[in-house]
Amino acid sequence: MYTARYGASIRKLVDKAITAKRTRYECPKCHKLKLGRKGTGIWACKSCDAVFAGGAYAFRSEAGEIAARMIAEYSKSS
Ligand SMILES: [Zn+2]
Repeated sequence: MYTARYGASIRKLVDKAITAKRTRYECPKCHKLKLGRKGTGIWACKSCDAVFAGGAYAFRSEAGEIAARMIAEYSKSS
């Protein structure tokens, strides 16, 4: 298994990222827990073959949530 060297806090961040990328997420299209990581930021559903853009190591990232909120805000005002 991959482990980062030099520093407990860095190791904790890496463990968190690896767990997040291995977790199966719910597909926004068919709502099955079949969404897996295909590459950095690419998530594909094993059931309906839908491909989504998401976070690099987790399907929903904190930065992505902020961006989604901003997009929603802009589309409301225009
Ligand atoms: Zn699906």
